Amino acid sequence: MRIGDLLKEKETTISFEVFPPKADSSFEPVLKAVDELSALNPDYISVTYGAGGAGAFKNTVQVASHIQNELNTTALAHLTCVSNSYEDVAAIVKELKANNIENILALRGDIPKNDEMKKRDFSYAYELIDAIKEMGDFSIGCACYPEGHVEAANKQKDLDFLKEKVSHGCDFLITQMFFDNNVLYSFLYNALKKGIDKPVDAGVMPVTNIKQIEKIFALSGTSTLPPKFKAIVDKFGDKPQALKQAGIAYATDQIVDLVANGVSGIHVYVMNRADIARKIIENLSEIF
Ligand code: FAD
Repeated sequence: MRIGDLLKEKETTISFEVFPPKADSSFEPVLKAVDELSALNPDYISVTYGAGGAGAFKNTVQVASHIQNELNTTALAHLTCVSNSYEDVAAIVKELKANNIENILALRGDIPKNDEMKKRDFSYAYELIDAIKEMGDFSIGCACYPEGHVEAANKQKDLDFLKEKVSHGCDFLITQMFFDNNVLYSFLYNALKKGIDKPVDAGVMPVTNIKQIEKIFALSGTSTLPPKFKAIVDKFGDKPQALKQAGIAYATDQIVDLVANGVSGIHVYVMNRADIARKIIENLSEIF
């Protein structure tokens, strides 16, 4: 199913995000995780795109194809463009089409460190949207950043560029993770004021181990941490099982508040941890 249509039609949706195996790693644990996630009946499962050119994309396609064709769950394939040529993108899009995948999350990707690329075919995600539209009929999603993208001069400029992505044909948006729901509510208000009226899936990350917390803040630019979240990390940071339980409870609470306040799409960054997704879904069994 086309995710743009699904998000417009359904009152509340929940989706999961997984990552494919690295180049030489086994598919087995990833496929086992997606089998278990699919059994929880999410509205879709998205598969991230690792750096490393068109070759690396094969793993994303393989996992997305398993979700779409063997599990009959709607798959969303992420695709980044900054390190790819137009021909690379064309080859990837062709493969997605051949695998019945109708949904692409069009991303720029992070600019590689020590970047030596002299001439790029793509500098921003809106150019990838244009290319995908030339290559086929997909429902195209894009990323958005409630706290502003790390490179953006300010949140208003970032919203101007988000509007540009929407005007180039993006059907739906998925947010970067955030831990303070007020940050999302303010973002949604400002986006609507700019005329950005596409469905927005709110990205929720269940934080269940301390290493993950350090990595998140280094990479994502997420920085607004409510006192309740900080207290959990302070108290349970060195007790892995307690932190896991508290992280699941925090994410559940966040989702309940989002849905109660009218947010209709929730995207959970489960990162291949089906046990955590299962606990969250059990906690929300009457909501989704
Ligand atoms: P863009 O929308 O192109 O924006 C990048 C920056 O440029 C922003 O600061 C923006 O304000 C600015 N900008 C945009 N347009 C213009 C313009 N016309 N002129 C000047 N400035 C402009 N990364 C991966 O490698 N693989 C993944 O699978 C992946 N999945 C993601 C999923 C989600 C939901 C999110 C939120 C992020 C994901 N990322 C992924 C990370 C993403 O690739 C990075 O955040 C990247 O730095 C920006 O990508 P973008 O598509 O948002 O870029």
